[in-house]
Amino acid sequence: MAHPRSFYADLSPDTAAVGAGRPEWEQGEPVNPPVLFSSTFISRGVPGQDEPAYARYDNPSNHPAEQVVGLLEGGPNDAVLFASGMAAIDAACSLIPTGGRLVMPSHAYNGSLALARDLAASGRIRLSTLPIDQTEAVVAALAGGDGCAPAAMLWIETPTNPLLEIADGPALIEAAHRVGAIVAVDNTIATPLVQRPLDWGADVVVHSASKCLGGHSDLILGAAVAASAEHDGTLRDFRRIRGATPSAFDGFLLLRGLRTLALRTERSNASAAVLARRLESHPAVEKVIHPSLASHPGHALAKAQMSGFGGVISIELAGGAQAADAVAAQTRTWAPATSLGGVESMLERRRRWPGEFSDVPDNLLRLSVGIENVDDLWEDLAQALSRAA
Ligand SMILES: *Cc1c(COP(=O)(O)O)cnc(C)c1O
Repeated sequence: MAHPRSFYADLSPDTAAVGAGRPEWEQGEPVNPPVLFSSTFISRGVPGQDEPAYARYDNPSNHPAEQVVGLLEGGPNDAVLFASGMAAIDAACSLIPTGGRLVMPSHAYNGSLALARDLAASGRIRLSTLPIDQTEAVVAALAGGDGCAPAAMLWIETPTNPLLEIADGPALIEAAHRVGAIVAVDNTIATPLVQRPLDWGADVVVHSASKCLGGHSDLILGAAVAASAEHDGTLRDFRRIRGATPSAFDGFLLLRGLRTLALRTERSNASAAVLARRLESHPAVEKVIHPSLASHPGHALAKAQMSGFGGVISIELAGGAQAADAVAAQTRTWAPATSLGGVESMLERRRRWPGEFSDVPDNLLRLSVGIENVDDLWEDLAQALSRAA
């Protein structure tokens, strides 16, 4: 790769997202890194530490994308790509010592909670769940007491999906470290251009790169970035042994998506803030949840620790679940589909999923704001809301 990490030290992350991970500027060299479709590499004798040998151990084709994500998160290590966000989350959970207690947001991504419950049911870990925006309660839970050992890991998701609660990242991380717990942060919804959990002191950051990082709803991929060499090594070992190594093509798609991350993030965050404000005065809408709004309980915190407010909005419909379903059936620019962070706007009623927790209101629609014209998005949504009312 062309430049060491230090080359980007005085450049904005927006610039690093475009320029990092490219081949050296030698006469005749390609501007983009080659994509290597090879499962194995010529290798005689005892292979060296960083020598490519077999693509499950480590796929060199994905190094450019791993370098860019690592740079954006601002840590000393490159990202470790995984075959999905859940595989990255599984790897991060492997950092919990056996029998250790994990403190997780009660409204974390439902896949993360399902995994944690599975690990707890098998006796691998113990699990406490609490609302992550209740800082004092989380700090108390980390310390343990009442026969409960101090936490071994704190899991932070902020904003949470789909309730968009804001956690006090720096305060919680400090409290976790005081009791010796390591901290993992799911940065999927905000992206590293909006908040950098490693700067708050987090030990690991995980992503579903299927969402904003990839940005085009055409891939399933995960990433984890560790702050220490030790944790980085554990994540890489976990990936190699479990075989959750992604393909070269997925690494290519991620790198291609990352080149426009800054533009996409800027547009979707700005449009989401505009739409959230307009939605607040639509009669068919009972409640609008977006951290940009003064009515959001985490607004001040979001302003302090984020440089944007994210591209996801949740709304509760005055007409209940039926109205929410009707809205999703009557839009022409908002795709009725699950997932978020793509260039195309999407919406769905979350509780249509039997696995979604009952704390998510039945009438809640999650909107993922893409990069279309904001007035087109508004007019389409407003007409669907009015017709559904
Ligand atoms: C989608 C998502 C995941 C899971 O990622 P996959 O790529 O679908 O495995 C994890 N966390 C959050 C916040 C998500 O939105």
